[in-house]
Amino acid sequence: MTNPPFPNNNIGYLCTDWQVELGLGAKTALKLIDKDENLSEFSFAQLMDLSNQAANLLASMGLQKGDRIMLLLSKTIEMYAFFLGALKLGLVSSILFNSIGEDSIIERIKDTDTKAIISTTRMNFRLVKVLQKLDPFFRVLLVDQGESDGQFIGIREQFALASTSFVTPATDPEQYSHFHFTSGSTGKPKAVQHCHAAIIDHLRSFEAVMQPNADDLYWCTADPGWVTGTTYGITSPWASGLTQIQLDANYDPALWMRIIERYNVQIFYTAPTVFRMMAQQPEAFYQQYDLSSLKRVYTVGEPLDPNLVLWGRRVFHCEIYDTWFQTETGSIMVANRPGLEVKPGSMGKPLPYLEAAILESQNNFMPDNTQGLLCIRKPWNSMFREYVGNPVVYNNKFLGDFYSSGDIAYRDEDGYFWYIGRSDDVINTAGHLVSPFEIESAVMEVPHVLDCAVAGLPDDLLYEKVVAFVVHDQQAPSLRKLDMDIKLYVSKKVASLASPKEIVFTDKIPKTKSGKVMRRVLKKQYLGQDVGDLSTMEE
Ligand code: ATP
Ligand code: MG
Repeated sequence: MTNPPFPNNNIGYLCTDWQVELGLGAKTALKLIDKDENLSEFSFAQLMDLSNQAANLLASMGLQKGDRIMLLLSKTIEMYAFFLGALKLGLVSSILFNSIGEDSIIERIKDTDTKAIISTTRMNFRLVKVLQKLDPFFRVLLVDQGESDGQFIGIREQFALASTSFVTPATDPEQYSHFHFTSGSTGKPKAVQHCHAAIIDHLRSFEAVMQPNADDLYWCTADPGWVTGTTYGITSPWASGLTQIQLDANYDPALWMRIIERYNVQIFYTAPTVFRMMAQQPEAFYQQYDLSSLKRVYTVGEPLDPNLVLWGRRVFHCEIYDTWFQTETGSIMVANRPGLEVKPGSMGKPLPYLEAAILESQNNFMPDNTQGLLCIRKPWNSMFREYVGNPVVYNNKFLGDFYSSGDIAYRDEDGYFWYIGRSDDVINTAGHLVSPFEIESAVMEVPHVLDCAVAGLPDDLLYEKVVAFVVHDQQAPSLRKLDMDIKLYVSKKVASLASPKEIVFTDKIPKTKSGKVMRRVLKKQYLGQDVGDLSTMEE
């Protein structure tokens, strides 16, 4: 493990006090925009004071180092203050995405032995039901209420009046910091534990991939309820002393473009699913905006098909960089970045301080251009330290000295990594392994296709057959013709055995709230089986 060069390895301290000590106290840390487009700005000094107040308040509630808490707050200053304050105090916190249902909240609290949740009265209708299922010591701290009522503790005034002085105790890099739940693409979301050492990789991945200048304005659109929204929407930019924009509003292409234009965003980090939604607007729509401030655009979370890279270059007039990582890896592992030529469709190369490899099984490395499990040599600083309460599953994720991501990929002769799919999703048809991503990329190129997902389904003859689930636009000709066009195009572009045996036209592809296709749901629905945990599915 790297020996940290910091005065204190505490993530909360590094995002705030350290920046002030480095002379950035007056610099804007956060430009916070609400859904009505009102802007509030907070300097690093203010962020330091607010997080100190949060730490003092949490301490006064009797919460102690190692206690787990959860935050159920939208992107408001309280969310940032309490997340950073909890880190300073040594609490172990998790930010929940806002639309989470009460059963999922209860399960997550019980599975992780969480002591309290910080929220607002807006969430009371759900939290009342949550409390009925928890022990009487569990507390809900409400940031927008003064008085307390039973387990609901109003902290509005106490927070405002709390002291702005707090000395962050020296923090062991291995001390637990925060935990995330995975997206739940492949099953029930897993609780993934990180520690304070992670900040080292947050910082160096940010430096290696985003390569920001000190005066760049940066915008990461991910929800902090997911790893990207925390690592690249809170900790990396602030521990780097950068000003970032956060928008507390849902996706709306006109609003998003206005924000890039109005505030001159230079570095923009988003997801392929956003690109796919954006690409549904005619390109002329984007020409109405002056997006010339953009220097670089990055995506993460799903494969970025080559066509979307070309679309992004046309619309944003800058390079589009795909990045790959997981909740478990804590920070970007493989990425395109300035200084590396982008091969559209490839995820790029491993970061310089990491070793990535393609393995078939333990000690069994695949040659170049051959598919296998994408693995990372352990340990690294932001590597997860456990699946909370699930040591067996944790241990199964390692193949000797390597962490196995469960994604299938290959490395080409130039050292670039290419994504094929999740190991459970790769399709085994007529004795060949085919990539759902490759087929989806081809299907997306067929006129009138708006969205699509491809899955392998059981077949007596082929073992698995390729089935494409397709959303089409209003102008589509007859579905018979579209069906034929898709099959012919995939056959020509990819391979005849990759051509879908069946096309199911649908209104919507089931996705997680972070925009990932839930193939497990499509498969179960197709087979008429129980679809399992849907807690993270987009409405
Ligand atoms: P669960 O583990 O609960 O099924 P999840 O794997 O979707 O959920 P995350 O950790 O948020 O949860 O997502 C990581 C996964 O996202 C990766 O394993 C990979 O399949 C996919 N992914 C992330 N970035 C990329 C990328 N650039 N290209 C292709 N796939 C990506
Ligand atoms: Mg996963």
